[in-house]
Amino acid sequence: MIPRFKPYLDKKELLAALRRQEGAISRFEEEFARTFEAKYAIAFPYGRSALWAFFKALGIEGAEVIMPAYTCVVVAHAIVLSGNIPRFVDITLYDYNMDLDQVEAAINEHTRAIIATHLFGYPLNVDRLGEIVRAAEDRWGHKIWVIQDCAHAFGARWQGKLVCNEGDAALFGLNISKMITSVFGGMMTTNSPELYGKLRTFRDSHFVQPGLLKRARRFLYLLAVYPAFNERIYGLVNWLEEETPLLDRMTKAYHLDGQIHFPPDYLDQIIELEAKVGLVQLRKYPEIIRRRQEHARYYDQHLRGIPGLELPPLVEGATYSHYVVRVPDRRTVMEAMRRRGVQLGELIQYSIPHMAPYRRYVEEFSIFTNSLHCSRSSINLPIQPCLSRYKLEQVIRSVVDVISLGYSRRHP
Ligand SMILES: *Cc1c(COP(=O)(O)O)cnc(C)c1O
Repeated sequence: MIPRFKPYLDKKELLAALRRQEGAISRFEEEFARTFEAKYAIAFPYGRSALWAFFKALGIEGAEVIMPAYTCVVVAHAIVLSGNIPRFVDITLYDYNMDLDQVEAAINEHTRAIIATHLFGYPLNVDRLGEIVRAAEDRWGHKIWVIQDCAHAFGARWQGKLVCNEGDAALFGLNISKMITSVFGGMMTTNSPELYGKLRTFRDSHFVQPGLLKRARRFLYLLAVYPAFNERIYGLVNWLEEETPLLDRMTKAYHLDGQIHFPPDYLDQIIELEAKVGLVQLRKYPEIIRRRQEHARYYDQHLRGIPGLELPPLVEGATYSHYVVRVPDRRTVMEAMRRRGVQLGELIQYSIPHMAPYRRYVEEFSIFTNSLHCSRSSINLPIQPCLSRYKLEQVIRSVVDVISLGYSRRHP
């Protein structure tokens, strides 16, 4: 079975994990900054911990933080848990990014930060965002911090410029479902020495070194990742996931249980093993992006124009962390694809303002119609770098079969 995502790991990561390497964490930070052309990078156990630490380190509290209604919910968790208030903005159906007119309208005297997400690798118009922010700063007379959420957009470019360097800081997630991985982990980059100093001091005084047991567990987790994504046994993994509770702890989105909380280890430092894996992954980064871009173009060529299937755009500078299409009846399509040996993902199946713990932050639900629509209709096709032409063709053939069958049934 073709899995919905697959980390691009080979024996190099495993060998690196086993090798002794002094100062791997600071080397990972340095190499990360260098790869994405930033001055500084600071590693965290999760992307969400980095965002939380950003607000804490700067003493931002009780402020409004603008963010998209349709994104990973842990971003909203980080805002609330740091003592701030999320202010949601709807997305566009074109590239899933925030509607900048709505961003402009949402800024008020309480706004202290904006999370500029580049969802699925599509670069947000950072030039326009910059103009909006400068005008608002003049109007309200205080700084508005811009954090580029690059968890899906490592290396994405707007008009040739890396989006990660177009704000005050950039946020990255590094778990195994991300474009490059350090097993778990997150990173924040910045070009400001003052911000770097504050983040670094905060991290070093609040985050703790995990014990031996956790380090051993992480190693076992890494070992388990290799067979778990092997296509020959992935059918079994998928069956265990769908039909039994055995893998729930590992695969079910534990952040979707109706509460705003972080995992218990959110204040642990990243470990050496993770940094060593991350270092190998950084070297593969150009190849990973190139392949994803090729796959996206291939899907576009072969799937464009099928009635009942809304494709994402091809965008210059996008990195395609996911290839997300919209269909009217997602469940049926996913099940039919599964029977044909292709697992599809249901990546963001929620609209944050509509989730129980976030309703209290919303006055008017009707403005999040695009977010709600995407939460119900989006599915992602496999786009992992390791997919061969042959596998891509298998996906394409299955999609064409499934969609045209369903379509002719609904529209005889
Ligand atoms: C993954 C992700 C993050 C960070 O997630 P962590 O799991 O905390 O590392 C942030 N934003 C988006 C859009 C993401 O997908």
